[in-house]
Amino acid sequence: MKIGILTIGNELTSGRTQDTNSSFIARQLNIHGWQISVMMSVGDDGEAIKVAIDHELSLSDAVIITGGLGPTADDITTAAIAGAFGLKLYTDESALAHIKDRFDRLHLEWTANNVKQAVFPEGAETIRNPAGMALGFFLRRNGKVIVVMPGVPSEAQKMLPEGVIPVLKREFNEAVVHVESRTVKLFGIPEARVDQMLSDIDFNGLGVSIGFYPNFPEIQIALTARCTAEHEAREKVKRAEEQVTDRLRPYIFAYDQETLEGLVAGLLIEKKLTLALAESCTGGLIADRLTDIPGSSAFFERGVIAYSNRSKTDILGVPQDVIDTFGAVSERVAGLMAEGVRTLGKTDLGMATTGIAGPTGGTEGKPVGTVYVALADGKNIRCRHYAFRWDRRRIKSISSQVALMMLKKYLTGEREDG
Ligand code: AMP
Ligand code: MG
Repeated sequence: MKIGILTIGNELTSGRTQDTNSSFIARQLNIHGWQISVMMSVGDDGEAIKVAIDHELSLSDAVIITGGLGPTADDITTAAIAGAFGLKLYTDESALAHIKDRFDRLHLEWTANNVKQAVFPEGAETIRNPAGMALGFFLRRNGKVIVVMPGVPSEAQKMLPEGVIPVLKREFNEAVVHVESRTVKLFGIPEARVDQMLSDIDFNGLGVSIGFYPNFPEIQIALTARCTAEHEAREKVKRAEEQVTDRLRPYIFAYDQETLEGLVAGLLIEKKLTLALAESCTGGLIADRLTDIPGSSAFFERGVIAYSNRSKTDILGVPQDVIDTFGAVSERVAGLMAEGVRTLGKTDLGMATTGIAGPTGGTEGKPVGTVYVALADGKNIRCRHYAFRWDRRRIKSISSQVALMMLKKYLTGEREDG
C-alpha cells in the first residue's frame, strides 16, 4: 500500500514553521511496512489543497493530511476537501457536544467559531483526538482513503497510532507485515567509500534493503527486511549485518539507539573511572554530550572551558613559556591541559582539546581545522593531531567526536589508530 502525506498551513509555506509532521508520519508508516509515495506542503488555500489532494491520490492508495482544522478563519481544510469532492458539510452533534464538554471542563470561554471544529464533509467518519480539541476524520473515495488530522504535532503524534493506523489497517485489510531494522553507525570513513566497500554484497538476494543516512560526523546504515514472519525478517537482517560488519568493522562504533557518548559513559561507569575535561576549541561540547547521559555524575567530575591563553595558565597551570614556545594549539599544550585538569579535578582521567575552528586564526603552519586532543591517565599522556576541513560548527562537532572515540578506544583497549 502506498500512502501520500499532505501538510497544510501558511506557517509551513512561509517558512516560519518547519514541517515535522511529514517526517514523523513517514517514519511511523514505514515501521508498518507502508511506503510513502509523495509528500507535499501547501498553504491554507482551497485551490492548492484540491490540486495537491488530486495529485497525491493519483500516486497513492491513501492520503494523510495534517493542518487547517482549527477554529480560526484561516483554517479551511475541511471546507476545501468538501469542495474538492463536491460534498456538503454537516455539523456532527455528538462532536459538538464533545467539544462543548471539553470547553466546560477546561473552563474555557465558548466562542461561536468553535462550532467549525464539529463540521465535517458528508460521509466522513470522525477520529478521536486523544490530545486536543479538533477531531480528525476520514473519507472513502473510489476505493481510496483520505485521512485528516490536526496540525499540532503533539495531537497528530497521538492520533496517528491510536486512530489512524487502525483505520488504514481495517480499510485495506492489510496482512500484518513485520519490519525488522538494524542501524549500523560508522565514523571515520567517507560515505562513498562505505558504498564501495559494500558493493559486492547482494542485498537484494538477502531480501534486505539498505539505506545510507549521513548524520555528520557519523554515517548510519539502515538494514531493513519486511516479512510476514517475524523470525524470517530478523534472520535476514542478521545475515546482512554480518556481511556489513565483516567489511566495515574498524569503523563501526555503535548500533541502533546506541550513541558514542552513551557507550563512553557506560564504560566509565563500568570501570569506575572519573573524568575531568579541559575544552578549548570544543567549547564544552564534549561535556554537553556526556552529561546528556543519565547517571553521568558517577564519572563526570568537572569540565573547564579554557578558551583564553590566560585561562590555560591560570586554571590549568600550563606554563606561559610553553604557550609562547609551542603555541596554544599544540601537542604540548593539549597534553599539559589534560594533565592539568586531571590534577585539578583529582580524577582518574583528564581530557583536553585545543584547536583552530576558524574561519580566522589559521596560519600556514597551523591552518584552520588544526586540532589536538589529549588524554592523560596519570601514567601516560596520549595526544593526537587532526587536520580537519569544514566550517566552525562542524570542526567543533567532529573534534568532540574524535575525543569521545579516543576515550572509547582507551577504555576498551582498542588500538589508537585509524
Ligand atoms: P492547525 O491544525 O493548522 O491549526 O495547526 C496548528 C499549529 O500546529 C500550527 O500553528 C503550527 O504551529 C503547528 N503545525 C501545523 N502543521 C504542522 C506541521 N506539518 N509540522 C509541524 N508543526 C505544524
Ligand atoms: Mg493552520
